[in-house]
Amino acid sequence: MKTIIEPFRIKVVEPIRMTTREERQRKIAEAEYNPFRLKAEDVLIDLLTDSGTGAMSTHQWAGVMEGDESYAGARSFFRFEASVKSVFGHKHVIPTHQGRASERLLCAAVVKPGDVIPGNTHFDTTRANIEASHAEAVDLPIPEARDPENLHPFKGNMDLQKLEDLLNKEHHRVPFVLITATNNSGGGQPVSMANLREAKKVCDAFGVPLFLDAARFAENAYFIKLREPGYQDKTPREIAQEMFSYTDGALMSMKKDAFGNIGGVISLNSDAWAEKIRTLLILTEGFVTYGGLAGRDLEALAIGLEEVLEEDYLRYRIASTAYVGQHLDELGVPLLKPFGGHAIYLDGRRFCEHLPDEQLPGWALSVALYEHAGIRACEIGNVMFGKKLPDGSWQWPALDLVRLAIPRRVYTQSHMDYVVEAIGELYQQRQSIPGLEFVYRPDVLPHFSARFRLRS
Ligand SMILES: *Cc1c(COP(=O)(O)O)cnc(C)c1O
Repeated sequence: MKTIIEPFRIKVVEPIRMTTREERQRKIAEAEYNPFRLKAEDVLIDLLTDSGTGAMSTHQWAGVMEGDESYAGARSFFRFEASVKSVFGHKHVIPTHQGRASERLLCAAVVKPGDVIPGNTHFDTTRANIEASHAEAVDLPIPEARDPENLHPFKGNMDLQKLEDLLNKEHHRVPFVLITATNNSGGGQPVSMANLREAKKVCDAFGVPLFLDAARFAENAYFIKLREPGYQDKTPREIAQEMFSYTDGALMSMKKDAFGNIGGVISLNSDAWAEKIRTLLILTEGFVTYGGLAGRDLEALAIGLEEVLEEDYLRYRIASTAYVGQHLDELGVPLLKPFGGHAIYLDGRRFCEHLPDEQLPGWALSVALYEHAGIRACEIGNVMFGKKLPDGSWQWPALDLVRLAIPRRVYTQSHMDYVVEAIGELYQQRQSIPGLEFVYRPDVLPHFSARFRLRS
C-alpha cells in the first residue's frame, strides 16, 4: 500500500469555529495586525506553532491520572528520568517547565559576559537568552542553508570549517557549542549524523562541550533514517541514541517531540554544571525532582518520549508534512525546500514580490492568510530577526519566511487540503496583499507583542 495513514483514531473532538472574512478583518485590525494578539477561538486552523499544541494519547492521559504529586522524590520524576536517560544517555536529568527555562538556566550557570555561543542556527528564545547574558549567539549554517531552492538533504548542518576557525581564535570565550536538530529557524531542516560526529571531534579538540537543542530530535532521527547511508535498517531510537552519544548535554522543549502541553529538560554529563543548574532551578522553578512541572506532566512526558520514537508515527509525521509542501509546490507557491519535519515554510519575499523588505512581506502574508481563510501562521523573518542599526537603517535576515507549523496528531488530511487550497487562492491574488509598518516594536522577541498598521 502506498497510502500513509494517521496511525491513530480519534476519541475526543474539539470543535473549531468558522468566521466570515468581515469578522476576521475586524479581529486582525483590533489585534493591530499581530496574529499573536488574536484570540485562538477566532482562528479556524492554527498553524502558529507545533509547541504544546499536540494531542496526547490515551496512554498519556492515563499517565496523567497516575501522576505522583509528591513534592520531593515523586515516582513520576523517576519515570521521567528513566525515559529521558534511555534515549539521551547523559548522567544528569533536570526537568524544567519548558525549553526556554532550560536555556535560561544553562546560560545563567555557565555563560559569562563577552562569551560566544556558536550554533547551526539558534532558535529565537535561545538567542534571546544568550544575549540577555551579554554573550553573542553566532549562527554558522552551511552555505546551502541560505538558498531556499537548494535540495541538500541535511540543510540543518553546521559549517564545521567556520566552527573550527572560530574556536581557533576564541575557544576560551566559548562555554559550549549548541546544535539545533532539526534546525527550526533554518526551516526545520535536519542535521546529519556525520555532521554531529565531526562537530564533536572539533569541539573535543578544543575541550569545548557540545550540546544539542533536541526539541525535534525524533524528527531529525527519522530524516537520518530516510536520507543518510547506513541508517535505513536502524530504529529511530537507535539513531537518536547515537545522535546523543556525540553530545555532552542537551536542552529540550518537551512541548515538541515529547507530545507535552508543557515541559522541558536539561540533560548533561558535567557534575559541576548540574550542581550549578540545580541551585538556580530551586530558586525559580522548583525542587529538582519537578522543575516547575506537576507530577502528571512528568508522567505524560515520559510516555510521550517513548511514543514519538514509534516508526509508524514518524513515517506519518514526516509524510503528512511533506504532503502539504508537495501540493503547494504543484500550485507554484514559493517554498523553502526540502520540506521540513514539523512545518512548511512559505518564502515571504518571493510570495509578495511587490513588497520591499521595509513593508515586511512575510508578516503581511501571515496577516493576509488569516483574513483570507482563518489560518494562523508565524512569520520567521524580518519582524523576528530584523535589526535596526545605529544609523537608523535596517539589516534584514537572509530569509523572510512564514512558517506553517503542524501540531502533532491534531489535524486531518482534509484540514490540510483546506490550507493548501486557501494558500493557492491567495497566491493567485498576491498583488493585493498590503504592506505593513511598525507602530510599536519591543527590542526583545519583537514578534510576540509588536503592533502594526497597513501602509497607506
Ligand atoms: C520551541 C523551541 C525552543 C524553546 O522552547 P519553549 O518550550 O517554547 O520555551 C528552543 N529551541 C527550539 C529549537 C525550539 O523549537
